Amino acid sequence: MKYDVIIVGGGIVGATLGLALGSDGMHVAMIERRRERTPPPSERLGLRVSALTQASMRILTSLGVRLPPDRAGPIRGMRVWENRHPVRFDSASIGEAALGYVIDNESVQWALEDRLEGIEGVETIRGEAPQSLVLDKGQAILRLTGGERLRARLVVGADGADSAVRQIAGIEHRSGDYHQRALVTEVRSELPHRRIAWQRFLPNGPLAFLPLADESASSIVWSTSLDHAETLCALDDEALGEHLAQAFDHILGKVEVTGKRASFPLRHLHARSLIGERIALVGDAAKVVHPLAGQGVNLGLLDAATLAQTLIRARKKTQDPGSTAVLRRYERRRRGHNLAMQLTLDGFHHLFTHPAAPIRALREAGLFLAERLPPFKACTMRLASGIVGDLPPSARKPASGSDEKERPPQSESDIGNETSPDGI
Ligand SMILES: Cc1cc2nc3c(=O)[nH]c(=O)nc-3n(C[C@H](O)[C@H](O)[C@H](O)COP(=O)(O)OP(=O)(O)OC[C@H]3O[C@@H](n4cnc5c(N)ncnc54)[C@H](O)[C@@H]3O)c2cc1C
Repeated sequence: MKYDVIIVGGGIVGATLGLALGSDGMHVAMIERRRERTPPPSERLGLRVSALTQASMRILTSLGVRLPPDRAGPIRGMRVWENRHPVRFDSASIGEAALGYVIDNESVQWALEDRLEGIEGVETIRGEAPQSLVLDKGQAILRLTGGERLRARLVVGADGADSAVRQIAGIEHRSGDYHQRALVTEVRSELPHRRIAWQRFLPNGPLAFLPLADESASSIVWSTSLDHAETLCALDDEALGEHLAQAFDHILGKVEVTGKRASFPLRHLHARSLIGERIALVGDAAKVVHPLAGQGVNLGLLDAATLAQTLIRARKKTQDPGSTAVLRRYERRRRGHNLAMQLTLDGFHHLFTHPAAPIRALREAGLFLAERLPPFKACTMRLASGIVGDLPPSARKPASGSDEKERPPQSESDIGNETSPDGI
């Protein structure tokens, strides 16, 4: 079979790219090794959640993706602290209703697959994976494990950190271990989260409470040393709740563990190039970042939207979508941003896990100063919301006065008093 583009990997990033290309009339094959479609969201949230930036929400909305109502919890602010000096970020101060939205990955995946159903040009091939790749007369020929051969002018690797496409194409990468695991689960807190994402830097790594749609429910991500993660995983729910409350100095009161738990090894990865001959990489196939700022999917969605925009433009000019000239345009626009974010997150990781007393003092001084520098805070919030830099049009805020109105994914209730009892 012959296609314009073959996408390997139908996760959140690959499915978004497929949707963007298919909506513009391209003929796309999406190869996904999972056999089953994602089931409709059940009452319980899926275990893995993501904080999606405003830019990511705009990309999904522009493609007609309808996230399940009342599932996405808006993030109206962030509180970041280590010991004494919290830094407070509030979305209203940069003119945004929210910095982003917390939603479970399964809901996003289901909504994408649901939307793809109506797109004729996208054919999803499930239960398959690529086996080999041959380049022949301006085409890529991808052979699948089941034996089928597919042809296209471009193959995109959206197949995650262990990308088979990256490997088959011989694109080198650098990777390493953070020597940490991230424990994730869902909790209820005695005090409401007030739609704030709370993150404390602890000696072994950061603990984040991400606000879910229900004001007493949060999803936690505790990145910590391997030993400590093992100890935490072995605790019963009651003891884990006590550890969580204690680690947060009881800022949200008592904590009750209400969800299943899982832990993920944390590593970083950086592909030396985002492109190869008739190959492009997007999402975790291209880079894996520390989850401390919740940026992985968000960077991947910007990759997908930028690649889609580049390919759609090339098609309008009847250019070959897999040509080096076209692929370089994509790489030029994404490489710098991805690398800058990766270096920043690595820097934060090393700075906040360094045990030396002078570095600890420097951190406290930095946080003290940061709280008193509104321009720094505004800049950080714009970065966290994904609304700066070379954004594809679908990720940009509609210009004021335009007919297009932004709709929040759910009705947002008043967040009430902005200061918690202890001033954080
Ligand atoms: C604890 C934790 C918390 C996180 N929190 C956040 C957050 O708050 N915000 C955020 O933005 N990011 C977050 N991330 C990062 C985020 O989860 C990843 O960046 C994101 O899932 C990458 O999406 P992807 O589609 O590129 O890859 P994946 O999610 O890995 O999807 C790859 C897809 O390709 C398929 N596939 C793989 N190999 C093959 C193959 N050989 N053939 C066919 N199909 C294949 C897989 O089945 C899958 O569907 C977090 C990560 C961790 C570990």
